[in-house]
Amino acid sequence: MLPTKKSYCQAFIALGSNLENPVSQIQHAVSELSRLPDSRLICCSSLYCSAPVGRLDQPDFINAVAHIETNLAPHDLLKALLDIEHHHGRVRESLNAPRTLDLDILLYDDLTYQDDILTIPHPRMYQRAFVLRPLMEIVPTCFIPGRGLVSELIVSCTGQKLERLAVQNE
Ligand code: AMP
Repeated sequence: MLPTKKSYCQAFIALGSNLENPVSQIQHAVSELSRLPDSRLICCSSLYCSAPVGRLDQPDFINAVAHIETNLAPHDLLKALLDIEHHHGRVRESLNAPRTLDLDILLYDDLTYQDDILTIPHPRMYQRAFVLRPLMEIVPTCFIPGRGLVSELIVSCTGQKLERLAVQNE
């Protein structure tokens, strides 16, 4: 069952972009996460560059993971993230299409939950180096409910191209 609104939950948000100055898209999105209502930005990982997954004929992605404390219930948090994506001109063309900004809820405390619009933990996060590496950077002992330790899951992702960027996140 979903928790009712309660005081500060720890949530981790994946950020990704591969259109219209992706580094700037991610930096601005982090700044918008810091202004979410009833929430506080704790930290954000470095920026990473990753090869596209699924559809290969598109630019590389810039990725990061942010840690927030939030009093928003999961569906309210999702709605706030979709609003930020919308402000960044996100258009939903097709699965794995290029995008100005993608924001996903990875983890929300130790919640496991699924309905028609929301799955937590994010269902594919445990298979993706561009999520696991930045997550491990900010929480080295991170555990994904139902899946295991990020530090162990990442071993299966060694073939995925991922490069940590020198540019600072803002
Ligand atoms: P996409 O932008 O392609 O990642 O898909 C976004 C849609 O995925 C949202 O509108 C949600 O309904 C759905 N979704 C399911 N679980 C999650 C999650 N953990 N975080 C973000 N979106 C999710």
